[in-house]
Formats: sequence, C-alpha cells, structure tokens
Amino acid sequence: MLTDTFGRTHNYLRISLTDNCNLRCFYCMPEEEYSFTPHGKLMQVDEIEQLARLFVDQGVRKIRLTGGEPLVRKDAGNIITQLSKLPIELHMTSNGIRIDDMLPQIVDAKFKSINISLDTLRPERFFQITRRDYFDRVRANIDLLLHHGIQTKINMVVMKGVNEDEILDFVALTKLNPIEIRFIEFMPFSGNKWTSNQVYTEADMLANIRRVYSAEPLPVGPNDTAKAFSIAGHAGRFAIISTMSAPFCAGCNRIRLTADGKLKNCLFSSSETDLLTALRAGSDILPLIQANINAKAKELGGQLTTNFKHIDTDFLKNRSMITIGG
Ligand code: SAM
Ligand code: SF4
Repeated sequence: MLTDTFGRTHNYLRISLTDNCNLRCFYCMPEEEYSFTPHGKLMQVDEIEQLARLFVDQGVRKIRLTGGEPLVRKDAGNIITQLSKLPIELHMTSNGIRIDDMLPQIVDAKFKSINISLDTLRPERFFQITRRDYFDRVRANIDLLLHHGIQTKINMVVMKGVNEDEILDFVALTKLNPIEIRFIEFMPFSGNKWTSNQVYTEADMLANIRRVYSAEPLPVGPNDTAKAFSIAGHAGRFAIISTMSAPFCAGCNRIRLTADGKLKNCLFSSSETDLLTALRAGSDILPLIQANINAKAKELGGQLTTNFKHIDTDFLKNRSMITIGG
C-alpha cells in the first residue's frame, strides 16, 4: 500500500503518455517556444507496462491515461491494449480529436470512462482557445463515444471573461445525453499567465446554474475531486472541480507519472522522482516510490495557499500543465 505520512492511501495513478499535443490550449501550454520531449526520452510501451504493474502490486486499482494528448502517440493503441489487461479500472482524458481513429482499441479496452475536454460549444471560440480548427471533429467524437455506450464526461475549464457565459449551454446538454459535464476552476501552472481574478469559482458556477435550474447535490465519495449535482428530468448531470476555491487534498489518493517517467505526488508539487532512469539502470524502484509518497505535502504541493487570491505565481515552482499530465 502506498500510504503517506497523513494516512492517505494512493490507489489511483495518472500516467501521461506524451507532452505533445495536436491542440495549443492557451491555459495549458506555455506561450514561449516549446519543444516536445523526443520519443526516446519518453517511457516506452514495455516501460509503461512494467511501471504500471509495479504500482498495481502496491495497491493501485485505477489508472488514467492523459498527456499532452495521449492519442497523438503512434503507439497509443498498443499502450491502451497492454494496460487494459491489468486488474484495474482504466480511464482516459483526451481532447477527443483522434477518438474515431482509435475506436477499435478504445472499444476493446473497456474504458470505465473517458473524459473529453471541451471548453466551448462555439466553433470560433474553440479556435481562439485551442488555436486549432477541430471543433466539429471533437463534437462528433463525443457523440461517437455515447453511441458506443462508453461512459463519457466533458471537462470544461471555466475562465472569467473567456467562457463562463456558456455554462448554462453545457448544463442543457445533460438534458438528453447521459453525460457528466465537469466544470473545472482555472488553475495556475508554469507559463500559463494565471491570475486569481480569472478564476470562476464553484460559488459563481452554482449561482449561475441555479438562476435557471434547481440542482441537487449528489453524495460525494471519500476520494472524489468532483462534487456532482443532478437536475430533475436530466439524463446526465454536472459536477464541479473546485481546486482553487475549495481544495480537496484531505481525500487525495492520486499520484502522477509524467511522460518522461518522473513521479509527482501532487499536481502542484515542486519536486519529482525520476523512475524511468532508475528503471533503465536496473535499480530498485519501490524505495524511490515510497520516498516520494512519504514526502507528499498536506495540501496543494506545499506551495499554493488555500486562499487562492493570495497565490503569487512568481514563486510557483512547477512544470506547465502539458508536461505534467492533467
Ligand atoms: N489533452 C488531453 C485533454 O485536453 O483532455 C489531456 C491532457 S489535459 C492537460 C487534461 C485536463 O487538464 C484537460 O481537461 C484540461 O482542460 C485541463 N487543464 C489544462 N490546463 C488547466 C488549467 N490551467 N486549469 C484547469 N484545468 C486545466
Ligand atoms: Fe493539449 Fe489537452 Fe493541454 Fe489542450 S488541455 S493543449 S488538448 S494537453
């Protein structure tokens, strides 16, 4: 069991497959010139499988594939197939562009759920946010997943002055579709020019939604990051991820492996442990994992304050989101 000094057991591993992406979301990628990690420095298929098995032996029961965009990797299908053989719940977060290309492997892998990121329902705004013209394809691929009966969630990063005016349009999607819309508070990472006044908080979201709908909170599990709400007569539901205004670190069961094989015990941790180099050198990995978990801070990587209005991003020591794996 991977238990930290605060008694939190870590049974959920998020594996980033690459820091490459076919979109350029401004809140995720640093604005300056960015070179993606060369393939040889990324974990290879057999290395991902070996590390994943090691974590499963230590009690991990849920794995999420993420990135960068996990499906831009040429061997993503192979990775998905290998990991689907493990005794775990398999999940993925994707921007949705390549779902149609990879559908056979996706269907065969029996994902427990797939989260697709979509911050707007307006094609022109999609282009402004992502700097690429893939709105129609992403929208069609969400329908494709639903058509194949795959549990689908939509991640929307809500940012003041960017897309908060579309929250009700997203909630309306849950009327007929059995999907979960996840409204995510905007978070600070290296190079994303975050400011606290762009954060559209959980309270803002609920006030906005409750102008029109009566939304009932659903029970929250001990490790849930999202607080879900139902609306009478809707096939789907919505949920709020309030990392900034109401962090949920006490129930954290998540650890992250970056695409270059570094273990991060928190999205906001400033330190990381290089498992890939150790694996390639034939060293014993388990003590490194345990030391990393033991060093986990009580909340927010030990470097953000719980009052997000006081966060000074000049002192933030972290990677950009695209290189962590969200
Ligand atoms: N490319 C895939 C995608 O976009 O779904 C997976 C990786 S992406 C980094 C994972 C999730 O992190 C996405 O839902 C994205 O919207 C979210 N994300 C990225 N930067 C963020 C930020 N600054 N604040 C909140 N969420 C963010
Ligand atoms: Fe790519 Fe996802 Fe980041 Fe957008 S949020 S740039 S799709 S990794």
